[in-house]
This record gives sequence, C-alpha cells and structure tokens, in this order.
Amino acid sequence: MKIAVLSRNPRLYSTRRLVEAGTERGHEMVVIDTLRAYMNIASHKPQIHYRGKPLEGFDAVIPRIGASVTFYGCAVLRQFEMMGVFPLNESVAIARSRDKLRSLQLLSRRGIGLPVTGFAHSPDDIPDLIAMVNGAPLVIKVLEGTQGIGVVLCETATAAESVIEAFMGLKQNIMVQEYIKEAGGADIRCFVVGDKVIASMKRQAKPGEFRSNLHRGGSASLIKITPQERMTALRAAKVMGLAVAGVDILRSNHGPLVMEVNSSPGLEGIETTTSKNVAGMIIEHLEKNGGPNMTRTKGKG
Ligand code: ADP
Ligand code: MG
Repeated sequence: MKIAVLSRNPRLYSTRRLVEAGTERGHEMVVIDTLRAYMNIASHKPQIHYRGKPLEGFDAVIPRIGASVTFYGCAVLRQFEMMGVFPLNESVAIARSRDKLRSLQLLSRRGIGLPVTGFAHSPDDIPDLIAMVNGAPLVIKVLEGTQGIGVVLCETATAAESVIEAFMGLKQNIMVQEYIKEAGGADIRCFVVGDKVIASMKRQAKPGEFRSNLHRGGSASLIKITPQERMTALRAAKVMGLAVAGVDILRSNHGPLVMEVNSSPGLEGIETTTSKNVAGMIIEHLEKNGGPNMTRTKGKG
C-alpha cells in the first residue's frame, strides 16, 4: 500500500515508528507536513497539492494531528477521505474527540462511567456548581489544557471558589470534576486498535503530585487490566468512532471511569513500557481494513 502519514515533524518518535513499521511490512510510507498541504475543493475531482504537485495513488492515511492544528488538519484529512483514501481515524471522529465537553456528553449518553463533571464558563452561582459535583476536594480543568497543565486539585470549597473565579476572570471554559482520590495518583492508558486493547500501561504520579502525566514527572509501568476496564476502553473508543485511540481510565471504588479519549495517542511511552510493536499493529489494522472507498463518512456529519 501507499500510506501517507500526516505529521508536522518526521523526527517525532511516533511518526518515525509508523514509517519504520510500514516500510518493514513492505509499504511505501510518505510523511506529509499537514500545514504545508493545500487543497482544491471547488471541483469534481478533489485534490491535495504538496510541494507543487498533486498527491496521488494513496491507499491509506494515518493522521497524527496535534491539538494545535486540529482545524486545518481535519480539513486535510477530510480531503483525503473525499479522494477515497482510507483514514486510520476519520476526520469527523477526530474533531469530535477534540471537543472535551462534547466527548463527555457522548460518553455519558451511552452510560460509560465518568467522574461526576460540571462544565461552566461564567457560572452565576459558584457554590452551587461546586455542590453539583459533590463538593471538595475537586479537580478543576481548563478545557484547552494538555499534559496536565491547567489541571488543579482544590482541597476545600473555598480554594475551589477562588480558582473558579480566577479562571472566570481569564474567560476560560472549565470543567469541575469529582476528585477520584482512591486512584492514588495513577491512571491507566488503554491503547485501542480496531476492536482490541492491544497494549496498556499504568502511569503513576511522582510523590506529592496527583497528576500522572509523564510530562509532570509521572512514571509508566506494565499493568494487567480487568475485563471491565477492557470493555470500558473499547466502548469509549467505539462511541467516539475512533479505530485507534488512547483511552485514559481512573480506577475508582465504583469501577473504571473514563477521563479522556485521545485520537492521536503517542507511541513512545506505550512501546517502551510494554515492548510491543504498537506501530506494526496499527499498520496491520490498515492492511486488514483499508481499501479504496472504505471510509464511512468521507467527512460528512
Ligand atoms: P490533560 O489532558 O492535561 O492530561 P487530564 O484530564 O488527563 O489532563 O488530567 C491530568 C492528570 O490528572 C490525569 O492523568 C490524572 O492522573 C489526574 N486527574 C485528572 N482528573 C482527575 C480526577 N477527577 N480525579 C483524580 N485524578 C485526576
Ligand atoms: Mg491526560
């Protein structure tokens, strides 16, 4: 197959590994810098141009679209879909997963376990918002945050009120969430490919920290997930419409709670921790499911 990898940087671990795994399995791998591609939409024959030439003959495309380029990246991916190129994850599903409020609403509608969560922009009654999520301690999150930045643990209602007021002053959309203390500063990343959790790892926050993000000094280790956790991760990916997803789960004393569903999960942590060829399994998934005109939505909906 001829496979495009949409990525801003060919030197990133995930991009390199996908190219390597694809090449190993006999495919032609081409990295395309998402923001450099330009498109022709006003024609019966949609095209993408890159470095002065139309992109042609691709069978599949692997989107590795960073949060900061979601808008343009999804447009490029949609154009590939309109050209009949099979996407690893569809543009519609990626756009859906990037909207945290919409994602949680979709997951809750399907009865997937979530921490009790409130959304707000400029709440007119902050104590009531805090009461809505069962009071302190609670976690406040800025919607646009990543890598744990903008995630604050408030031990008391007074602290929570001040933090909410501060974010209101900054005109930020926020999430107010029940604090899952019993998770003990750990979460579980389940890596879903197709209808399987192909790898999973536990991330543990460093002492004195509740955020398990590796960028915040957390450490990763192997973990055996329960059948219920496996089922939860698969269902969450399915609800989002993602063939490949990183589903982050908190272990609560009333079962697994989904915190986040990531549509471009990184490969470095999971491959290093589990010693699995995750990139190879992604390519294998494309071999089994890809093909001309196999994209379901072609950017519709
Ligand atoms: P980001 O998108 O910045 O990674 P997350 O929502 O994943 O933000 O939160 C960062 C980390 O904080 C999580 O990996 C988890 O360890 C911890 N955390 C987040 N929400 C909760 C919660 N409701 N209860 C307990 N720990 C949480
Ligand atoms: Mg996270």
